Amino acid sequence: MVGREYSSHFAVGIAAMLSQERKGLYRSLPQVQRLLETDRARPLCAEFGRPAVTDALRSVMKDTRDGIAEGAVSSAPAPHALVDEAAARLVKRRQRGLRRAINATGIVLHTNLGRAPLAEEAIAAVVDIAGGYCNLEFDVASGTRGSRTQSIEPLLTGLTGADSAMAVNNGAAAILLALSGLAADAEVIVSRGELVEIGGGFRVGDIIQQGGARLVEVGATNKTRLADYVRAIGPATRVLLKVHQSNFRTIGFTGHTSIAELSSLARERGLLVVADLGSGLLRSVAGSAEPTIRQALAEGADIVTCSGDKLLGGPQAGLILGQSAAIDILRKHPLLRALRLDKMSLAALEATLMLHRDSPERIPVMRMMSQPEELLRRRAQRLCELVGDGFVERSEAFAGGGSLPEERIASFSLSLPTPKGLEATAGLLRGGSPAVVCRFKDGRLVADILAVSDEEIADLADRLRAAVT
Ligand SMILES: *Cc1c(COP(=O)(O)O)cnc(C)c1O
Repeated sequence: MVGREYSSHFAVGIAAMLSQERKGLYRSLPQVQRLLETDRARPLCAEFGRPAVTDALRSVMKDTRDGIAEGAVSSAPAPHALVDEAAARLVKRRQRGLRRAINATGIVLHTNLGRAPLAEEAIAAVVDIAGGYCNLEFDVASGTRGSRTQSIEPLLTGLTGADSAMAVNNGAAAILLALSGLAADAEVIVSRGELVEIGGGFRVGDIIQQGGARLVEVGATNKTRLADYVRAIGPATRVLLKVHQSNFRTIGFTGHTSIAELSSLARERGLLVVADLGSGLLRSVAGSAEPTIRQALAEGADIVTCSGDKLLGGPQAGLILGQSAAIDILRKHPLLRALRLDKMSLAALEATLMLHRDSPERIPVMRMMSQPEELLRRRAQRLCELVGDGFVERSEAFAGGGSLPEERIASFSLSLPTPKGLEATAGLLRGGSPAVVCRFKDGRLVADILAVSDEEIADLADRLRAAVT
């Protein structure tokens, strides 16, 4: 008992001493008004404005007082240090949250990094349209209201052979609109092997049901036969849906039903075939089995949907192509208003489609996927020399974005040691501006060169050098 009493008196004594010390610290803190008059703060006021500097200083002072209360601050901070902290906060506040990143992952269409970089022509179109008014829904020939996507429809039909085409906000919106318009309150038959989750928790099956259609799953995960679809067709069936497996593959004992088979069944029974291709390939890739939009339509798909920012190399968008009668229904659907494309994306999409027609090699995604090995090796070598450390090695890169999942693209990487440790190195690279995102393998940093442009090499070298030395 005595011992406890003694120790509690002792604790009270310590607390009193600490509180005296804290009071002294609080008293030593300068007034915000006084800090504002210092030589160090005056240029800040000129740059950021006095109200902003005052706010920043107040927030620094509040954090300092909190630090004293928690015992984290045990000596009076110098006035210039308080002003410097306020300056750092003002600079940070000016930085946009959405900022550029250098993609050294070797994945060209990285969804987390914004998928396809735009072609110069597409960027110029966005800049031209964004700052002023445009004929978005205005028919300049007649002076009457026009359709938002009239400029891109002939390009899309010309490039794919589709009867008709339209564009919405993204690939998921294209599926949602297509099935809401063509199969609301009806049944959509889809193979169990195609009910994939594409990433970010997005499941094709959920989208279908959101559109009001009833999903009828057929077959097994690894095999679905035409007979499975035949058995599932009932009076409420409206659509046979084919979904690209995206970045998922069933290999080994597998079997699936082709668009051509589904199409002849659909003709017989008065149904529609909707094919969600995902990546939106306009031209076949050498040695790849990935179907193009034109092939899917030629095989008999009534409607094809895909994204604008995967292999098409444009902005975020969703394309719907196919039969005029079906597309006309979608054009009048009330959901379209919620899924429509904005003018900047539309400008970028039109410019990208014009490049596909006239000079596809000018589209960055197309260019990145077909770079000669020698060029990649030389670029990696240059990076290595600029960093002054590590070695160049062969690596495997990927298209990404759920496209061409099995095809590896031969690439080169710079392999670097990580003396600061993996976590710290990755954090340093991500935290800077531009953010740098790369791979790590066997304790080393691997910067793949495939999706890094020539203009980015110097910046990338600076950031890498700072992170590994
Ligand atoms: C990527 C993808 C989608 C979704 O497209 P978003 O443009 O990301 O909305 C849908 N289906 C498939 C097969 C895909 O690969």
